[in-house]
Amino acid sequence: MRILLVEDDSMIGEVVHDALRREGHATDWVRDGAQADAALATTDYDLLLLDLGLPRKGGLEVLRALRARGLGLPVLIATARDAVSERVAGLDAGADDYIVKPYDLDELLARVRALLRRAHGRAEPAYVWGEVRVVPATHEATRAGQPVQLSAREWAVLEPLLARPGRVLSRQQLEDKLYAWGEEVSSNAVEVYIHGVRKKLGAGLIENVRGLGYLVPKAAQDGEKG
Ligand code: CA
Repeated sequence: MRILLVEDDSMIGEVVHDALRREGHATDWVRDGAQADAALATTDYDLLLLDLGLPRKGGLEVLRALRARGLGLPVLIATARDAVSERVAGLDAGADDYIVKPYDLDELLARVRALLRRAHGRAEPAYVWGEVRVVPATHEATRAGQPVQLSAREWAVLEPLLARPGRVLSRQQLEDKLYAWGEEVSSNAVEVYIHGVRKKLGAGLIENVRGLGYLVPKAAQDGEKG
């Protein structure tokens, strides 16, 4: 998924940027509110991780402006421990969740996964196609009961397709989920990762719609915990 990280503290920003990328998210990092506005105006993000205390333009202003423009992406705000009023103001301004600084990375990543899941209407933990079972929340996949390891990039290609089974995404749309700004894109990257997923989970899992892009067929949803 494509994430915008807005954080002016270099140390926190670097750690969080790395962690989100390791999870397979194409992550753009900006350090002030004005840059956040510009990024949101030009790029289609799946989630915004927003610090509130920012130079040039505060996080709350950024949040109010994006909601006023009708952008519905999930927003997770990062607030100081004692700033209850800030948290309340953030939620009232349209944030979906908050995390208190200094935060635990595992907790942050779990909140990001939960928000992405909710945004795509996926309360169910698992998808099932015949002998293939996939749990996006925990990045677990099995084929005929055997665990299958997908790479972070393979998940990055598969997850946007899983978000809405039956919907076609173009190669460009998938590329935008794989690469943040400034990352070098090899021309056949999407095909390479899709090939990897198909090899591991079966050729039928990702269909090629000629001239349009790719889709994941509708799946049975399995309510039991993985
Ligand atoms: Ca700050």
